[in-house]
Amino acid sequence: PVVTRFAPSPTGFLHIGGARTALFNWLFARHHQGKFLLRIEDTDRKRSTDEAIEAILDGMKWLGLDWDGDAVSQASRADRHREVAKSLLESGHAYRCFASQEEVQAAREAARAAGKSLRFDSPWRDKQPDDAPQDGSFVVRFKAPRAGETVIEDQVQGRVRVSNDELDDMVLLRSDGSPTYMLSVVVDDFDMGVTHVIRGDDHLTNAFRQVQLVRAMGWEPPIYAHIPLIHGADGKKLSKRHGALGVDAYRDMGYLPEALRNYLLRLGWGHGDTELLSTEEAIRLFSLEGIGKGAARFDFKKLANFNGHYIREANNEHLVELTEPLLAAHFNRAFDDADKAVLTKAMPGLKERAKTLVELGESAHFLFKSRPLEMNDKATKILDDASRAVLASVAQRLEAVEDWTASSLESAVQDFARSADIKLGKVAQPMRAALTGSNVSPGIFDVLEVLGRDESLGRLHDQSS
Ligand code: GLU
Repeated sequence: PVVTRFAPSPTGFLHIGGARTALFNWLFARHHQGKFLLRIEDTDRKRSTDEAIEAILDGMKWLGLDWDGDAVSQASRADRHREVAKSLLESGHAYRCFASQEEVQAAREAARAAGKSLRFDSPWRDKQPDDAPQDGSFVVRFKAPRAGETVIEDQVQGRVRVSNDELDDMVLLRSDGSPTYMLSVVVDDFDMGVTHVIRGDDHLTNAFRQVQLVRAMGWEPPIYAHIPLIHGADGKKLSKRHGALGVDAYRDMGYLPEALRNYLLRLGWGHGDTELLSTEEAIRLFSLEGIGKGAARFDFKKLANFNGHYIREANNEHLVELTEPLLAAHFNRAFDDADKAVLTKAMPGLKERAKTLVELGESAHFLFKSRPLEMNDKATKILDDASRAVLASVAQRLEAVEDWTASSLESAVQDFARSADIKLGKVAQPMRAALTGSNVSPGIFDVLEVLGRDESLGRLHDQSS
C-alpha cells in the first residue's frame, strides 16, 4: 500500500511551492488508495509557533487536501530519534565526536586553503570508545561509507548518484542531545511507513545522506521523486513578486481553491494537453511519470484564466456566499436576504466576466449603490446631451412595459431603437451608464430585470434630460 507524506516546516504560512508538493503527495496517495500523512517538522522551536502550524493546516483544509490520521509533530518524537542514534552507536554506524566547533572550523579552513574537499574528517571516527574523554562534550556523527557510491533511482530525476567520498560524517545528535533534521526525517519516514517521498528537488542532496542512514539501520529506502522547483515567469527563482506567497494570499486575492489546485497540478505535471481537470480526473490520471523534469514557471495570467473558468462553473448560491462578505465590507452594512436574492438573480450575468472573487464583488457594486449613482469617467463621457435625450425617450417607452422581464424589455428597447432610427448600441450604452455608473456590466436587459422597475426607471430618470 502506498503511503505518502507532506512534511512542512512551519514558517508561518503554506507557501505555493509547499502546497504543490502537498497536492502531488495527496493525489498520488488517493490514486493508489493509499494514505497521505502530515508531519509538522517543528524542531525549530523558535519558529514553530501554534499560529505557524495553524496557518499550514488552514491552507491545506482550504485547498481540500485532507490527510489521514492526526498530524504528527516531529519535535514530540525526539526520544525515538535519540534511541535510533543510540542503536547506530551500538552497531558501529555512528560515533561520538569530541572535536570542538573551532577544530571543525579550522579543519575546513585548512581544507579550503589546500584546495581539498570541505569534508570534515573527524579524528574520532576510528577511535575506540575507551579513548574518549570522561566529561567532554560531543556530537554523535554518522559513520558514512567512504568507498563506492550511493545511487538513487529517482522517479523524476532518473538515476542520480554521488561518490561516497564527497559526503562527510553528518551530525545525528547535537552536543545538547537534540536530534538533527537528517536523523529525524529518516526515522519518521520509516516509522510512519512512508513508501514514497515526493518533495522539492532542493532536497535531492539530502536524499543521498538519508539513503545511507536508512541502509545503516537495515531498513529499505523509500521511493524518491524530487520535483523541480517553481520559477517565476522570467525563469528566475520564485520570489514574492512572482507569486511566492502563502495560499492565504491567493484566497484573499479572490482565487477559488479548486482553481488554485488545478493550476498547481498543471504547474509541473501534465497529461497530454489537458488543462482543466476535476478532482476525480486528477486522482484518476495522476502519476509520477507525468511530472516534468524542467522547472515550472508560475504564470499569473494562466491562474486567472483557470479561476475565471471555475467561477463560471460554480453554482450561484455558492458564489453569493463568497462575495456577500466582500460587499458587506465595501458598503459597510449587513446584507440581508433581500440583498442576497438580488445578488443571486444577478449572478449568472456577473460571473461570466470575473477572473477573481474580488472582481466579481466589484462587478456587483452597482446593484447596491444608492441614487443618484456616482458615474465613473467613461460613463460620464457616454452621457453627453444626445445620450441624455435618448434616455428620456427610452425611459418613457419602458414605463409602458407591463411584464418587467429581460425579454419583454429587450423587445421594447429594440422597437424604440427602430422607430427612432438609432443603433441599438447607441441606446444600450447610455442605459448601461445610467443604470450601473459604468461602461461595463452584464447584459443590459438582465440588468433592468434584476434592478426591477422602480429602481431602473429611477436611475434612467436621474441621468436623462
Ligand atoms: N521540512 C522540509 C521542508 O519543509 C521537508 C522535508 C522533506 O520533505 O523531507 O522543506
